[in-house]
Amino acid sequence: MHRIASGDLYQTYDLGDLRITSLRDGYVDMPIGRLRQRGDKPFGDELPKQVALVDGQLRLSVNAFAIDDGNGIILIDTGASNAWHPTMGRLPEALDEAGIDAGRVRTVCFTHTHLDHIHGLVLADGRDAFPRLARLLVPGEELGFFRAEARLERFHGMAEPFEAGDRIGTHVDIVGAHGHEAGHSCFRVSAGGERILIWGDTVHVPSLQFDRPEVTWEFDADQDQARESRLRLLALAADDHCFVAGAHLDSPGVGRVVRSGASFQFEPL
Ligand SMILES: [Zn+2]
Repeated sequence: MHRIASGDLYQTYDLGDLRITSLRDGYVDMPIGRLRQRGDKPFGDELPKQVALVDGQLRLSVNAFAIDDGNGIILIDTGASNAWHPTMGRLPEALDEAGIDAGRVRTVCFTHTHLDHIHGLVLADGRDAFPRLARLLVPGEELGFFRAEARLERFHGMAEPFEAGDRIGTHVDIVGAHGHEAGHSCFRVSAGGERILIWGDTVHVPSLQFDRPEVTWEFDADQDQARESRLRLLALAADDHCFVAGAHLDSPGVGRVVRSGASFQFEPL
């Protein structure tokens, strides 16, 4: 897998005959208190020095990923549009900059249904972001959450549930990663003998959670399950030589995972 094109808001890589593009929706700043030690305990003075801060806050990139097989595009997550902080919502600009016509997006898949992943279906001006969308795949456990979002009401009927083990087309299979949310899922893309795991919110704070994967996130629906999923996926990526792409890894959020003693390191690509 190599980088073949880049700009401020996107990076494109080849994976066999496929093109994988990281699209930067923006970023969101969060208080340090979101990080949790075992027992749901926030850090105090013992906050590890390695945690990267911007003006005293944790800055999370918000990324979405396009898989292009030459015929059409599967988009994994869609950013926040104008439904959350104004530091997000740049996905349409990122698509433009990458030269991707939004009309080529035929399938949208959600890793989970938090607002920084789903609201990009609708542009800030209320129009559909993807005018030729044919399939909308939502984790089965979260269909109810999705259908509770009034802003996305016109998509409620189109939402199609999926579960771990399902396949999407010839190149993508779904790996369960429950914990951060009830149906949180990863999309493993295989082509040309290489693989990339588009893993959603498996890691929120890359400066800490590769090294200390036991640290959880306040917004994990089930912190113990989220920790177990993170450890399993880090091991899978490292041992299977599977590239990873993360919604909140520093943009572009693509790289490899290597073991480092009992923990892990991220090597950006
Ligand atoms: Zn998220």
